[in-house]
Amino acid sequence: MNLIPLPAFSDNYIWLLQHQGLALVVDPGDSTPVSEWLAENNHKLDCILVTHHHGDHTGGVARLQQEWGAKVYGPAKEHLPFEYQALQQGQHFSWGDLNFQTLDVPGHTAGHIAYFAEPAGQEPLLFCGDTLFSGGCGRLFEGTAVQMLDSLDRLAALPGTSRVCCAHEYTLSNLKFARAVEPDNLKLQDYVVHCQSLRSQNLPTLPAKLARELEINPFLRTRSPDVIRAVKHFAPQATDNEADIFAHLRIWKNDYK
Ligand code: ZN
Ligand code: FE
Repeated sequence: MNLIPLPAFSDNYIWLLQHQGLALVVDPGDSTPVSEWLAENNHKLDCILVTHHHGDHTGGVARLQQEWGAKVYGPAKEHLPFEYQALQQGQHFSWGDLNFQTLDVPGHTAGHIAYFAEPAGQEPLLFCGDTLFSGGCGRLFEGTAVQMLDSLDRLAALPGTSRVCCAHEYTLSNLKFARAVEPDNLKLQDYVVHCQSLRSQNLPTLPAKLARELEINPFLRTRSPDVIRAVKHFAPQATDNEADIFAHLRIWKNDYK
């Protein structure tokens, strides 16, 4: 089974899994890159996963569904403008031999879900949409800091070897902020060099490794003393409450240039 990131728009990735002539795509905001890949590689599309309702994740679904008759899965707690099987926390489904588990990860949107699977003989796969990015996390458009922290905790508890398939190439700008939060984090400094080299060759920084995200992503490190100290320096009114630290870290990032 092969995992392929199809670039879309300016910084989206539509993740594609290929297996024995069949393809599954995640969050096809645009049908064109998917249709082109299928034609060039002579594959049939039979499954579409959607993480949340935003247009850059759903815009190509109706057309692909119509063209291929592909089965579509999506969040039970959101409304999507096409027919799909609604999923929520704990529900499973299969694509061939691969079993997918659904996780509720509200925060970026109210009903955002993520998909986790463990392909035989390969590292686990996490399709997390706009919840977790490498070095960052999604903006809180519909959910609260408490919800997002809880969602990220749920993702952080998955196996460290998991391949984190984020929906945007935001890594370098996220890492710039991460360094402002944790200037003394050596693993973070190494990772910046690694990602800069990838981007200078126009290669994706994704999928990310979950274990590394735990070491470098400030939004997964809001209980670390260094992060707490930095947040309190930015927002002296922040209390020790972990959701409060998380909320102020997110506010800090929102306006960081
Ligand atoms: Zn989004
Ligand atoms: Fe998005």
